[in-house]
Amino acid sequence: MPEQRKFHLKKNDTVTVLAGKDKGKTGKVMRVIPKSNRAIVEKLNMAKRHLKPSQQNRQGGILEKEMPIHISNLKVVCTKCTDPTRVGYRVLEDNRKVRFCKKCNEIID
Ligand SMILES: [Zn+2]
Repeated sequence: MPEQRKFHLKKNDTVTVLAGKDKGKTGKVMRVIPKSNRAIVEKLNMAKRHLKPSQQNRQGGILEKEMPIHISNLKVVCTKCTDPTRVGYRVLEDNRKVRFCKKCNEIID
């Protein structure tokens, strides 16, 4: 299925989480990782990491860091109708390929 474009997400998209501990929350996409079909979403799916004491930070500590979320668990929130939506693709007259909201039909890009 070469026409099937799985990657509907882009950096700076607002997305809502469909599953997991942050289900129902929304955040901004910071990074997309095409290789693993995952994305890092700001302040979501946080995991604690323990830091070893170092010269700069003698006590060590706990760092909270975003872990990647599989894109099948993310849905784009349309900036026009502010609903989580499915996105489609449309080719404009100038041959630009843009995404549009399948709910309100507005171009998202
Ligand atoms: Zn919309």
